[in-house]
Amino acid sequence: MAAQNTDDNDECPFCLIVQSQNASEILMIPGAGHHYLVITKTHINNCKMLRSEHIPTVERMAEMGRNILEKNKVRDMTDIRLGFHVPPFSSVPHLHLHALAPASKMNESSQRRYGPGSAWFITVEEALSQLRARGRIK
Ligand SMILES: [Zn+2]
Ligand SMILES: [Zn+2]
Repeated sequence: MAAQNTDDNDECPFCLIVQSQNASEILMIPGAGHHYLVITKTHINNCKMLRSEHIPTVERMAEMGRNILEKNKVRDMTDIRLGFHVPPFSSVPHLHLHALAPASKMNESSQRRYGPGSAWFITVEEALSQLRARGRIK
């Protein structure tokens, strides 16, 4: 884990959840319908703070996102979306992976919020390839 931007934050709602859950490294929060949030126990502000050393963490977050969708009977695992909000859009300043399905059934406003074409959303695949390529998301 990076030393930078990883201090526990008393004001952070996700850190409070993590503390109350006695969670291991990565935790899942259910949202509405097939929409889940996967959060890190360690406080990382947002996807712009990710470094190449976080690649295993991001990979585990993606795996947990896929697992939770599968467990909740998402039939078409090719029609899912996993990704992060890009600041300043992020609603909660604690890194969280959105796991949604089915991606093709999202309405227009959801596509804007969680779409791969949106400037405020980066898919986990894109985030990982940027991390692998440059060592850091810019
Ligand atoms: Zn936090
Ligand atoms: Zn978000």
